[in-house]
Amino acid sequence: MDKNIPNTTENETLAHLGEFGLIARIQQRIKTNSQVLIGIGDDCSVCTIPPGEVLLTTKDLLLEDVHFRREWTDMYALGWKSAAVNLSDIAAMGGTARYLHLGLGIPSHTPLADLELFMDGLLALCDQEDVILCGGDTCRSAQGLNISVTVQGSVPQQEVCTRSGARPGDAIFVSGTLGDSALALLQLTQGEKPLDEIAVRHHRPQPRLELGRTLAQHGVAHAMIDVSDGIFSDLGHILACSKVGAEVDTRLFPLSRAAKNYLHHCPDRRAQVLRGGEDYELLFTAAVEEQQLIADISTRLGLSITPVGRIHPPEDGFRYFDHSGTLQHTSAGGFNHFGS
Ligand code: ADP
Ligand code: MG
Repeated sequence: MDKNIPNTTENETLAHLGEFGLIARIQQRIKTNSQVLIGIGDDCSVCTIPPGEVLLTTKDLLLEDVHFRREWTDMYALGWKSAAVNLSDIAAMGGTARYLHLGLGIPSHTPLADLELFMDGLLALCDQEDVILCGGDTCRSAQGLNISVTVQGSVPQQEVCTRSGARPGDAIFVSGTLGDSALALLQLTQGEKPLDEIAVRHHRPQPRLELGRTLAQHGVAHAMIDVSDGIFSDLGHILACSKVGAEVDTRLFPLSRAAKNYLHHCPDRRAQVLRGGEDYELLFTAAVEEQQLIADISTRLGLSITPVGRIHPPEDGFRYFDHSGTLQHTSAGGFNHFGS
């Protein structure tokens, strides 16, 4: 922890420090860089993006009792995730994440120690990815802790990766492993202790910024999205936006050793784990001829990239091989229902 910040006593709450006191505390501990011309402290932040690049902006809301419950929430993980979900969106567009703005609605009885842990988590990921916290807004909330994070990044205009560029014949790839976060959540809600390597995927998901940027730079990804709601649901967005169909093989879905082991003992949990969200891996489509380049990128970044299916013409709809190798058909319209 930054030694400039006075230690918070256990019982201190936001009411003791006040909104401006909290902003001052946040301001004391942030880093900056030469691209931030004006950070916290004026009416707007003033930041630059490299010439020839376009601005990417994304925002996510995290509302107490809607997205999280205080009694189950690790405040460090909440801070980390508040940044991670947004950085993952920048990754999915092929961009470089640069600036973060933080909106906080805080009940006045909130312990300052909790807020410091929240900031520890948020700033740890910002530091890891060279993202600068350069502004925000802080208010007292009459109900619940409410967090709104905006992240901005940039990307050369011709390298923007959207959801709408998938073409019939493309192979479908996914990075890393799927289902670890859902498995951790499942175990936590059942009072079991997840293995550390599974818990960390739930509490501290890693946005795949380097992968997204590399794929965009090489012009490899025709369409890309981050897996936040679950692979079926997120692939569904690509199919809808690109107006195409697909065939995937669920037996090819990349699983961690821990998830494989768990599903070996609890096979009835397969759908729940595989369809779970919050992996924040990247799902993208690319020409089949790019397979070797993708394998090289995977080796270079030390991150697995697995082909799981093909894009088809729209009239084929969506179909998938289930765990027993049976081909299941789903109409394109049935996709959302299927993913839920
Ligand atoms: P204004 O009245 O112009 O909205 P504020 O008094 O709300 O200004 O905020 C003062 C400065 O502190 C601004 O630069 C704002 O961006 C920053 N700020 C406020 N809340 C936060 C926060 N939660 N995190 C980071 N910066 C913040
Ligand atoms: Mg304000």
